[in-house]
Amino acid sequence: MPVKYCLSCKKELKGRSDKKFCDAQCRSMYHNTNRPFHELSIQKINSDLRRNRSLLAHFCPSGKSTVEKKVLAKLGYKFELFTHIFPFNTGTYYFCYEYGYLPILENHIEKMLIVHKQKYMDNLSFYPWDFKIIKHSSR
Ligand SMILES: [Zn+2]
Repeated sequence: MPVKYCLSCKKELKGRSDKKFCDAQCRSMYHNTNRPFHELSIQKINSDLRRNRSLLAHFCPSGKSTVEKKVLAKLGYKFELFTHIFPFNTGTYYFCYEYGYLPILENHIEKMLIVHKQKYMDNLSFYPWDFKIIKHSSR
């Protein structure tokens, strides 16, 4: 029987002949280093979005709260990343999954009005070509 080597660490494989790796660790190492570049960037964005969501959830334990922007910025919140937006007449809410925030100014201090997604938001329709709404919400 021909000798087979681990695809990851190149050590000789023992045991079953259909084995390609020593163990789960070698397998995941191999798949991580051979993952296409776009997969890595998708993975990075996904984990940043999850992190954003966790931060919003942490600072919004009971449905609604206001937090200074710099607090979340310091903790690594990525403001350019969100899963969806809700343009309201009071401004645009930026959501990461079921948590979102409205950027607000209170006494010249940048704050985030964090909300947990409400039922009525499911019924909102977002139409990117509705330029009137976008013009209103950017004020
Ligand atoms: Zn190995």
